[in-house]
Amino acid sequence: MPYEGEFARYRSLRRIADAEQVQKLLNRSRIANKHPIELLTEPCEAPLCCDPMPAYILAIDGSYQEVDVQTGYPGAKVGYVTVASVLLDLAKITELDEQRPVDPREFRKTEQADTIDAALPGSNVVTISHTNARESFRQQLFESFHDTMFDDDNHTRLLSTYESLLAHKPTSRGQECPYRESHGCDGNFIVAAGCSSTPCCGRPVYSTDALRIHERFNDVGTNGEAFGLVMQVWERILMIHLLQCFERQGILGKISRLGFFMDGPLAQFGPPAWLSRAISIELMRLNREVREETQRDLLIVGIEKSGNFVSHFEEIDTTEEPGEQRFPRRSYQLLTDSYIKRRIIFSESEKQFGADTYFGRKFFYKTACGARIVANMPFLTEEQDTIATGSIDQYPEFALICKLLDKLVSSRFENAVSPLVAAHSHAAIPLHLGTKVLKRLANALMGDR
Ligand SMILES: [Zn+2]
Ligand SMILES: [Zn+2]
Repeated sequence: MPYEGEFARYRSLRRIADAEQVQKLLNRSRIANKHPIELLTEPCEAPLCCDPMPAYILAIDGSYQEVDVQTGYPGAKVGYVTVASVLLDLAKITELDEQRPVDPREFRKTEQADTIDAALPGSNVVTISHTNARESFRQQLFESFHDTMFDDDNHTRLLSTYESLLAHKPTSRGQECPYRESHGCDGNFIVAAGCSSTPCCGRPVYSTDALRIHERFNDVGTNGEAFGLVMQVWERILMIHLLQCFERQGILGKISRLGFFMDGPLAQFGPPAWLSRAISIELMRLNREVREETQRDLLIVGIEKSGNFVSHFEEIDTTEEPGEQRFPRRSYQLLTDSYIKRRIIFSESEKQFGADTYFGRKFFYKTACGARIVANMPFLTEEQDTIATGSIDQYPEFALICKLLDKLVSSRFENAVSPLVAAHSHAAIPLHLGTKVLKRLANALMGDR
């Protein structure tokens, strides 16, 4: 049996790998991004906040893994996707923080974790009633949404949350029939809720086909991209799912006692990018209720650990003077459309950066302890839904977000937010364990074949 310390070592190894990745990225982008310092915006001092901290933090993070399985067919693979949500008792953590050194086991008691897991067919894994791996993948994806109920009292399926978002998908354009490649059907239609038949060729179609993740599915080779998309979609839908559960339970008014931390940008990329707009519509609707009851906004933060924005922040924070940094402690910069296009992701397009993929906007924050954080906050009202200005006036929770980041940036991991470190460790699939379970699952999936 592995014990906590072992997992902790495993986690820190992953961290080092991450840091190396970031380092590589930096080395490449530093040359391209060398711009005169005058083009930079001055960091602003973070507003002070006298609001109380939320009592709880809910962090959501996922991971996925693809493994080879023996099925008698060459190159057969199975993907295992897991998304963890961890509820942290912030009051308890504060209490523990005061008695240093912190006992990690006591710290663990402040966390309550829940996970969604699914094994999905990869290349050359064909379930009994199907003729190819992609079909098997589509059906299993639908079933994983259908079978997942996240809370015991409520019995609401993840599928119904997903379908509430599907209802916001524009219907002006249909999508390619999922049997195009395998059966040559060139039909085009709008995917409905539930499980039905395609209007073009009468074959089974699932509401989750609207995510179009199967279009990135390879019948031969690896499917890291498809599994990664499933993970990203789950992380985002789980956030909406939990909010909708609170709404049904009539406790949305107490939500100011809860803060959400998401791993990654508040965006959805790839074929399921339409979800981004749907999530935005739903967040604005939920936030109207929250505002009515509490005069506050939802507290949701996305944290980016790697990528261009992380390396850009590191670059502009470095000065000619060794050891001296441009961003003082407790300072921030809200990234505007023009800044992003000029300095980070070059573009001359009129279209707002991330218009089709983001449901939030980014800012840089240097915490009270000096950590650099690339964070995202969501658009919760129509007025907030712009990245034209760098003013924080329309974001009433901004001061509280900064205060939270000051508190939660982990002392154990550089520039990482502790609730996400916890969620990450719950989502991480230990390699040896995963493989054994996956093999068994693969056999179950394949049935008697
Ligand atoms: Zn993650
Ligand atoms: Zn068809």
